[in-house]
Amino acid sequence: MFSKVLIANRGEIALRVLRACKELGIKTVAVHSTADQDAMHVRLADESVCIGPPPSRDSYLNIHQIVAACEITGADAVHPGYGFLSENAKFADILDAHGITFIGPTADHIRLMGDKITAKKTAVSLGIPCVPGSDGEVFDVEQAVKVAEETGYPVLIKATSGGGGKGMKVAYNAEELPQALSTARSEALANFGNDAVYMEKYLGRPRHIEIQIMGDGEGNAVHLGERDCSLQRRHQKVWEEANSPSLNENQRMEIGEICAAAMRKLKYRGAGTVEFLYENGEFFFIEMNTRLQVEHTITEAITGIDLVNEQIRIASGGGLSMTQEDIRFHGHAIECRINAEDPVSFIPSPGTITHYHPPGGLGVRVDSGVYQGYKIPPFYDSLIGKLIVHGRTRVECMMRLRRALDEFVVDGINTTIPLFRDLLANPDIANGDYDIHWLEKFLAAKAKK
Ligand code: ADP
Repeated sequence: MFSKVLIANRGEIALRVLRACKELGIKTVAVHSTADQDAMHVRLADESVCIGPPPSRDSYLNIHQIVAACEITGADAVHPGYGFLSENAKFADILDAHGITFIGPTADHIRLMGDKITAKKTAVSLGIPCVPGSDGEVFDVEQAVKVAEETGYPVLIKATSGGGGKGMKVAYNAEELPQALSTARSEALANFGNDAVYMEKYLGRPRHIEIQIMGDGEGNAVHLGERDCSLQRRHQKVWEEANSPSLNENQRMEIGEICAAAMRKLKYRGAGTVEFLYENGEFFFIEMNTRLQVEHTITEAITGIDLVNEQIRIASGGGLSMTQEDIRFHGHAIECRINAEDPVSFIPSPGTITHYHPPGGLGVRVDSGVYQGYKIPPFYDSLIGKLIVHGRTRVECMMRLRRALDEFVVDGINTTIPLFRDLLANPDIANGDYDIHWLEKFLAAKAKK
């Protein structure tokens, strides 16, 4: 087992990793920018190192500073959390060259899945069902028109290096195609430094369903069921649930086993998520994330398995702690992402939290690094915490969520808490009857009122 882990992240996920390390008796090193010196992950870590000024590229994305921090503190492993360097193959390679363990998959697997065209080709070869579309990169309008005629309109142009919903454009007909192609291309270049794009059929009413997998790197892998992340705004997840209200046990085990079998073939190491769109009983692969996800907590709630503990165990060579037969799903869990944003305009709302009271009680978990008097810096993602609620049934879970939201006090800034109260009052949400476009329509209708 490792003796000291450096956590190359900030906010709630840095705290999440720190907790797993503490329970394993591993010493922790926090890194932070000058804007984060008062952050909770810095306060709770055994040691901390300032790695640069506020902009992420100068601190949390600064590989040399992070490696130097490992050497100064003698950390033998790095947990990257999510975002930042968590899917950066170069970072994994550099750590390896320095004899420091990257808690995650191999650099080759990160590369394989980081390029979405390659990821889709790999998925096809592993027997994972994919969204119909172009066979690789789309170079010009002529080719795009051909692909669109085969799949049918509307089509979606996507960046092969895409992430966070950027570099995606829909074309509803041939007239819109040239513009969509050039906009997607320039957005991709501006955001990811790579203008390669590909095409998919644009699905009208799908749900976003993703499978959590875990592999030991030796050819053993399990799945831990699915998460339904269909409630999205601008392709960003807002509310997630496990299990999905739309799958039954057989469907769950079938798609789960397809993913686990693929990971066995790949000899995948660590935690990963295989993302699908699900429409009319069919699954279509869209991408794989080779890291821990924000919403891993709901899987933890229904399986009782600590996924970060498992990641650390695997990275240290201890293998998987469970077989597929050991994994059972209990009850229902929902996660609400609490963002420091105006709940109507979604404009970020950094500033000082003047009063803070998180909810508690049976089945309620709050993962957050904030506290009363904490000043949210304006430089980073607006996610300030996650409320995770577990119940024996979906109905119990929703009743508990309503109660927990009522208890939650965050004063001094705007948060998305009121949005979740609105969602809970909606019959479609109560019935679990929603797709990936539902939330945008709901918000648009609310704005008109
Ligand atoms: P990113 O890496 O930017 O998050 P994804 O490929 O994971 O990109 O897609 C993000 C979201 O965009 C999905 O959850 C879904 O809401 C939407 N999306 C992606 N592909 C399609 C598609 N073919 N049809 C309809 N919506 C899609």
